[in-house]
Amino acid sequence: MAVGYVGRLAPSPTGALHLGNVRTFMIAWLRARSQGGKVIMRMEDLDHPKDKVGADVQAIEDLRWLGFDWDEEYVQSQRKDVYAKATARLHDAGLIYPCICSRKDVEAAQSAPHEGEQLYYPGICRGRFATWADAFHHSSPRLPCWRFRVPENTLVDFTDEFAGPYHQDVSRALGDFPVARDEGGAGYTLAAIVDDVLMGVTEIVRGDDLLPATPPQILLARALFPDRELPRFCHVPLVVGPDGRRLAKRHGDTRISFYRESGLTPERILGYLAASCGWCASGSSRTLASLLPDFSLSTIPNAPFLIGCLLK
Ligand code: GLU
Repeated sequence: MAVGYVGRLAPSPTGALHLGNVRTFMIAWLRARSQGGKVIMRMEDLDHPKDKVGADVQAIEDLRWLGFDWDEEYVQSQRKDVYAKATARLHDAGLIYPCICSRKDVEAAQSAPHEGEQLYYPGICRGRFATWADAFHHSSPRLPCWRFRVPENTLVDFTDEFAGPYHQDVSRALGDFPVARDEGGAGYTLAAIVDDVLMGVTEIVRGDDLLPATPPQILLARALFPDRELPRFCHVPLVVGPDGRRLAKRHGDTRISFYRESGLTPERILGYLAASCGWCASGSSRTLASLLPDFSLSTIPNAPFLIGCLLK
């Protein structure tokens, strides 16, 4: 395995840490540590309307309680100058343009919208405004966003370490995707890949709900860092509720803080999740360190993990 592995845990403080987040972080942490690699903790707190006050501190506390450790810690809201520079470079290269379409406008332009899917943008504002200020003049008081200009037939191919070969024609799947919500800002798609490249992350382990967001990130990374080797990607299945949908409040309380208050040990929680990955028998109690010799990507089922009741 590669020497100098650098992995990362990238929670968003949009809610309390739950079993689904922890299963993915457990895989990411073991994947890094089993190769003697470094782990970066990066708090992805740029999503202001959805961020919950205190969720960042709580997530760190929950992860430490479970036994996670890391070597470096970053907070995205303290790195806005880094993202502003990236946005400016994309602008100088003529790769982004201001767009004043509201979400409603974009939704109206869909042929067949599906729940949870990223919206396709057909380039309504391409070539419409000379500058961001010009666009702002037309959208005020709302802010325009920046969109990445995706040429026709932009096919991105990569081989995911878990999910296998993945292809997406970004011009058909997403169209001109958004990269920033205000003049010098950055949204998740841009900020995460800029950080991953600049922080030297060698492999991105995360939930497979982000597979479709990966080709746009690859396009951004190629545009901004043409001389850098891109990280590898490893998208693992999510935890779902009995209805097959991603873990949410309707599936009952799966927050780590809830299990902790109910008297469950970190070892019991980790053992439960490790059993779902095929690393130990169900009902086991395990520490993260004790799982290092048992860790393997190849035993993790391809299907989402359907949650049962951990408290029984
Ligand atoms: N912060 C994102 C989340 O919690 C994960 C982003 C990533 O791993 O790239 O869903």
